[in-house]
Amino acid sequence: MANLTNPQDTIAVIQKYNFMFQKKFGQNFLIDTHVVDKIIRSAGLTKDDMVLEIGPGIGSLTQHLAENAGKVVAVEIDKNLIPILGETLVAYDNITIINEDILKVDINELAEKYNGGKPIKVVANLPYYITTPIIMGLFESHVPIESITVMVQKEVADRMQVGPGTKDYGALSLAVQYYAKPEIVANVPPNCFIPRPNVGSAVIKLTRFKEPPVEVEDEQLMFKLIRASFNQRRKTLVNGLSNSPEIPFGKEQITEAIVNLGWSPTLRGESLTLEEFAILANSLSS
Ligand code: SAM
Repeated sequence: MANLTNPQDTIAVIQKYNFMFQKKFGQNFLIDTHVVDKIIRSAGLTKDDMVLEIGPGIGSLTQHLAENAGKVVAVEIDKNLIPILGETLVAYDNITIINEDILKVDINELAEKYNGGKPIKVVANLPYYITTPIIMGLFESHVPIESITVMVQKEVADRMQVGPGTKDYGALSLAVQYYAKPEIVANVPPNCFIPRPNVGSAVIKLTRFKEPPVEVEDEQLMFKLIRASFNQRRKTLVNGLSNSPEIPFGKEQITEAIVNLGWSPTLRGESLTLEEFAILANSLSS
């Protein structure tokens, strides 16, 4: 079977099946061997691993996942790709393809069925239009996960990795950093894909923490505080929080909590670290 991580073989497969790219599914297929190697190495796969791949496309990355992992479960929404995968992956007996929308799949059930509930590794060149719901869904539904190694839009990778004091810092940074250690492992230009995306890309590895890095009594409250602060990031923390319908405290209570912590009442939410959001949540919930 052709090694699909080059332009010629990818184009040959696409032409053979008369495959039409669907923009709405974020279809940009990888055609660069070095990038695929980098993803596989960064994911640190062994034959004991089960990998969940989101969006196998024509199977370029999937072939390499199957060679390096024990089991690969690949979820692809586009039914037109299923017969193609049947051909490109025929040589492998450790791959299960599921024709479904990843946002509707019970991933806990997949981990249970194919890995006895043990932590899985997620490896993918993600469809960019649903990056955040995919990543947050994996963390929030408490799927047993060891790591997530994914290609995402460069700007989104930056947002996952930064701390306070930069324009990219936001709710996604804090959510990711509560659950995992982020590390950008490669920057990838548009010419590594067919068709070329009109944004830069990056491979990011998120290694799940065994224990969260901060202690918080009411996780849900902390995430409500984070969302409310960044929904109105030009406002002070007090105003941002008291304007939000999600926050069950009045302006006076919020001001009192902030002053009691020794913080300025004119502070902005965007300057708070994860640890400070945890302290504020603990102070309000007590
Ligand atoms: N893995 C392939 C590669 O690297 O060449 C394809 C990556 S492409 C960026 C994203 C893939 O995700 C496409 O195959 C697309 O059809 C699929 N996809 C898009 N939305 C999806 C969804 N909601 N659930 C599952 N797969 C989806």
